[in-house]
Amino acid sequence: MIIVLRPDATEEQINHIVDKVKKLGLNPYVSKGTERTIIGVIGPEDVLRVTPLEVFPGVEKVIPVLAPYKLVSREFKKENSVIDLGHGVKIGGKKVVVMAGPCAIESEGILRAIGLSVKKAGALVLRGGAFKPRTSPYSFQGLGEAGLKILKKVGAELGLVTVSEVMDTRDVEIVTNYVDVVQIGARNMQNFNLLKEVGLTKKPVVLKRGPAATVKELLMSAEYILSGGNFNVILCERGIRTFEDSTRNTLDISAVPVIKQLSHLPVIVDPSHAAGKWGLVGPLAKAGVAIGADGLLIEVHTSPEDALSDGAQSLIPSNFANLMYELKGLAKSVEREI
Ligand code: PEP
Ligand code: MN
Repeated sequence: MIIVLRPDATEEQINHIVDKVKKLGLNPYVSKGTERTIIGVIGPEDVLRVTPLEVFPGVEKVIPVLAPYKLVSREFKKENSVIDLGHGVKIGGKKVVVMAGPCAIESEGILRAIGLSVKKAGALVLRGGAFKPRTSPYSFQGLGEAGLKILKKVGAELGLVTVSEVMDTRDVEIVTNYVDVVQIGARNMQNFNLLKEVGLTKKPVVLKRGPAATVKELLMSAEYILSGGNFNVILCERGIRTFEDSTRNTLDISAVPVIKQLSHLPVIVDPSHAAGKWGLVGPLAKAGVAIGADGLLIEVHTSPEDALSDGAQSLIPSNFANLMYELKGLAKSVEREI
C-alpha cells in the first residue's frame, strides 16, 4: 500500500509513521517528491486492519497498490527517477545517455581504440562484457576479471562511465569493484538470487528484459532489486522472441511507453541485440529515441569481422559517429539532448 502524506506533513509526522510501520513488522520506503512525500509499505498488510494509518497526523490518504510490483510503480513515485551513474552522468532526465562499446572485451588495445572512437562521437558510457553468456559453451566466454581490469583502466583514462555484465552471484563483488554500472543480461532476468544480490549493493543496474518475458515480469524482476534497497535500476528493452525471423529478436518498441506509464524507472533500448545485423541498428536506435527511451546500448567494434562476439551486429566507429550525429538532431525534435 501507499501512504500519501499531506503537502504540509512535518518531518516529525513522517518519522512517526515510519516508526509505526516498522513496529508493525512492515517495511517503509519513503519517496520525497516535489509536491509531497509518499511512503510505500511492503509486507503482510493484514496488521493494518487493526491500526488504520489514515488516522495518523500528516496522512492524506492510504491507497492499496493493485499491481504486483510496488516500489517500481508510478503510484509509488510520480516523478521520473534520475539515476547518477558517476562521472557527472545522470540517466532519466533530459539527456539521452548513449552506452557503446564492444560486445566482449578482447584486449586493452582494442578496447582503447573503440573507447576513443565512441567517446569522440558523444557516448558517455563504455560497455564491454567480461563474463559472457554465450549460447554455445565452445564460444569465447570472455576474459573474466582480466577483462574488468582493462575496462576500469580504459574507462578511467577516457573519463567514461563503465558497464559490464554480471552472470553469477559469486561474481557480484568482483564486478561491482571494477565497474560503475552492472548489467544483468536477458538470460538472467529471472535469476532471482542474482537480483537479490545486486539489490544489496548501491550500484546502478541495467536490467535487460528476458527474450520471453512480459513487461510485467520485467517489472517484477526490478522489484526484487528495489525491495533489497537498491533503487538505481535502469530497464532495458533488447528485443523479444517472436515468430519473426528476419531479425535476431523483435524490438518491442511499445514496451518503452508502456513501461513509462507503469514505472518511474529509466528505460533504455538496445537496438544491437534486437537487430542482430548492423544495418538495422541505426533505424532501431532512432525509433528508441523517438519513442522516449532514456538511453541506448549499442555495440561498436573497430573490426567487426574479427570480433570474438556479436560482430554481425556491431557498428564500425564511422557508422556509429554518423548515427550519433543523426540522433542528436532527432533528440532535439523530441525535446531531448544527446
Ligand atoms: C550483451 O549486452 O552483450 C548481451 C549479452 O545482451 P543480452 O543479455 O540482451 O543478450
Ligand atoms: Mn553482444
